[in-house]
Order: sequence, then structure tokens, then C-alpha cells
Amino acid sequence: MKDYLLKATAYDGKVRAYAISSTNTVEEARRRHDTWATASAALGRTMTISAMMGAMLKGDNSLTAKVEGNGPIGAIIADSDATGDVRGYVTNPHVDFDLNEKGKLDVARAVGTEGNLSVVKDLGLKENFTGQVPIVSGEIGEDFTYYFANSEQTPSAVGAGVLVNPDLSILASGGFIVQVMPGADEKVINRLEEKIQGFPAISTLIREGNSPEQILERLFGTDDVTIHGRLPVRFQCRCSKERVERAVLGMGRDEIQNMIDEDHGAEATCHFCHEVYYLSEQELETLKQSADH
Ligand code: ZN
Repeated sequence: MKDYLLKATAYDGKVRAYAISSTNTVEEARRRHDTWATASAALGRTMTISAMMGAMLKGDNSLTAKVEGNGPIGAIIADSDATGDVRGYVTNPHVDFDLNEKGKLDVARAVGTEGNLSVVKDLGLKENFTGQVPIVSGEIGEDFTYYFANSEQTPSAVGAGVLVNPDLSILASGGFIVQVMPGADEKVINRLEEKIQGFPAISTLIREGNSPEQILERLFGTDDVTIHGRLPVRFQCRCSKERVERAVLGMGRDEIQNMIDEDHGAEATCHFCHEVYYLSEQELETLKQSADH
């Protein structure tokens, strides 16, 4: 099954919902960054939620979510946009712990329970929108729930889960975001709370082969949901050799000469996707000639 997400409304438009299957996207991140199981879950949950938040944007707007706790994983960064492209990385990919007392990957231990979650949105305006909240549990889903309530004043339920195979590849990954629109009555909210409290683990639902459509159906029933859009989701980075060349060009002639003299070339690794770019001595010479200073 290819990764995709759905945008929907339910309960006569009183509720906005997103559901996503992201197994391949998270697997691509795992493969690129060589994340161990607990780190894969932490990064995967963050990327899964970020992909859905990207779908809330329009046009070429984009966002960056950053979870910076006091745990051994360091920072978790995920970028997403309105087209379903998402990319991400963690400071320390080699983090793994025993399962927690619930038998789940111990994401909170990897992330830490103190720190901040921030979201920066590039909406094409003069200034970016920035929202920041403290980490509340380090389990990611709860942290984004808190973010939506406190930074965006939108009561939300956020679920994201990742299951990892014994060989560390990703078995299943997915998530949902359910948001209550202004004017929703108490009855709708209560019905929703009940549903979500008894809701099975989202990663289990994905592993069992449930599609995003089926996840929405389980949340709202068949009659109450209207699907407004479907978006393919993939791990996609924006780096390129041209961007690396531009960055090197900006360093100036002396610095480029240093690279030629000392390293006989240059190597740059993209944080987001771990792609390695090489520039030969020859290529550096060419760049040096068009450098401004
Ligand atoms: Zn990249």
C-alpha cells in the first residue's frame, strides 16, 4: 500500500479530521538515517504528524516541527508541505531501549520529558509563524495535542504510532488528527472523546491492513464522514547538488581555495536525508572563478 493521507470532515462539518498511512515514508527515513527502533518510532511519529500538518497548509507553504527534549535522541526535526512531501532527522539515530511497561517502544525515554516542541510555518508572509509549547510527555502524540490546544487554540486529538520489525525495518506506521471546530456542541465533543478513548493503537490498525478510509470510518462511522482530499505522502528532500554548489560559492574564493589545497575536493552531507554530495577539485576551481570575493 502506498502512503497517503486523507482530509475529511465529520459530524456535519463540526469536526475536521486527517488520517494517514506512512509506513514507507518512515521506512525511507529509517534506511537513510539508520535509526534504531526507539529512534525510528520517535522520528516516525513526528514525521507522520508533520505530514498531516503540512496538509493543513496551502500552495507552497511549508512547516518545520522540532521536538527538543532532554533525552538521548537530541532534537527531532521534520519538514513538510502542502504536497505531501515530508523529510526529517534526529540528532542521535542510534537510540534504542527496552519496551515500556505498556509493551510499546519507549519513545518518551528517548525524547525526554522536559524540553520544547516548536512549529515554524512559512506561509509566504514577511514573518514566519512560530508556536512553541513545553513537552508534556515525550510520547509525541500527546505533545502535539498540547501544541494544538495551547498554541493554535484548536482542541485536537492526535494519534501516531510506529511498529518496528526485528530486523529494524518499519512494519507499520500511521496516524490521525481530529480537530473540533468552533461552535461544536458538547454532544459532539463527548461522543468524540468516548470514541478516541477506546480507540485501538493506530500502528496496530495499520499493521492489520486498515486504510486511512477505514481509520476514519472507525472514528466516525460511515455516514458521518465527508472526504475532501487525498494526498500521496513520501519522504522527499529538497537538497540538490546545485544547492551545495551555491552554498560553497557563498563561502568565497579563499575558502574554496582552502578546500582545493587541503582536501582536493569537498564533501557535504544533507542533515535531512543523509545524501552525500562530492565536489571534485575541478568543480571547486570552476566555482572559485565565479565566486564574488
Ligand atoms: Zn537532503
